[in-house]
Amino acid sequence: MILKVLLHEMSWREAKEYFAKNDIAILPVGSNEEHGPANPLGTDHLIAKGIAEEVARRTGILCLQVIPFGVSSHHKQFWGTIFISPEAFKKYVKDTCLSLNYHGVRKIVIVNGHGGNLAVLTHLARELREEGIFVSVFQWWPAAVKLLPDLYTTEERRHGAAEETSMNLALHPHLVNKDKAVDEEPRKSPLEAEGVTLPLGTVDQTSSGVFGKGTTASVEKGKKVFEVVVTGLVKHVKLLKKARMEDLMPRPKV
Ligand SMILES: [Zn+2]
Repeated sequence: MILKVLLHEMSWREAKEYFAKNDIAILPVGSNEEHGPANPLGTDHLIAKGIAEEVARRTGILCLQVIPFGVSSHHKQFWGTIFISPEAFKKYVKDTCLSLNYHGVRKIVIVNGHGGNLAVLTHLARELREEGIFVSVFQWWPAAVKLLPDLYTTEERRHGAAEETSMNLALHPHLVNKDKAVDEEPRKSPLEAEGVTLPLGTVDQTSSGVFGKGTTASVEKGKKVFEVVVTGLVKHVKLLKKARMEDLMPRPKV
């Protein structure tokens, strides 16, 4: 019985033992970017790490270290934001997945804590499937909307607002300055129109970095969301573990 589930805590012999019996692993990724005056810059990667490690403990499935930097150039005017190009981020995550594959892993669950990474990760998952690796991407906040639809208003569910702040309060309360939490209605661009996507920066829309209502965060709500998303992800990870590779790979031409 292997008790360790975090790769960096294992010796290479313990890792060998895990990879001999398992073809699945969990990889958390996030970002280091502004989340308003109340929240730490690490919000996105710290939450992803918290969820991924808890799922690993409950399932016995290996979890890697969190990749802390992501695609965040839209936040760069706020001090401390680290922004990686989509190309570099994709290559780094891909090489991490290929290293796992070299050790026999063919199924990877990426726990993504930052919405700005999603486009790259979706593209990468499709690319890796063609190479015989099945990658699923999990994001906690859309899962929370579905699983707990009435817990927050739309205004509380936006960037740096109550939902994210509550999750920080549940996982690492010492990093949250709750008395600095703000509510800020984001400014609209005069160019906004139905069907149009604009390449705006956060600084174009808010002065605090918060989109919406941040002052209503609570540790109880954070704990509720954490539990429900972890339970949901545990279910997915177990199903993926059981799935047969031949059912996961691209189909031959009809
Ligand atoms: Zn965030």
